[in-house]
Amino acid sequence: MGLFGDILRRALPAAAMFIPIPGVNVAVAAGIRGAIGATAGAAMAKKGETRLPIYLSCTECRERTYTTEKNKRNDPQRLEFKKFCPRCRIHTVHREVR
Ligand SMILES: [Zn+2]
Repeated sequence: MGLFGDILRRALPAAAMFIPIPGVNVAVAAGIRGAIGATAGAAMAKKGETRLPIYLSCTECRERTYTTEKNKRNDPQRLEFKKFCPRCRIHTVHREVR
């Protein structure tokens, strides 16, 4: 790109903020978005163990009626939900079992 390219590259942070150059702004924004996406992806891969599969068991008949998953950090205690049990055919308390 030559001299103009050099000037543009040196002035880029300021230019991106104050001068609306469509092509340059889009490129900068895409670059930032790409960097954020890469960081988030790496962080998410690390936190994979907190989300665990669980069963919800009917407290009346002990049937494991539902499978779901929970975040161990948000819900360290045993979860309880009122849910329909197809065996009892009524709504009963379902408690988490692993
Ligand atoms: Zn039941």
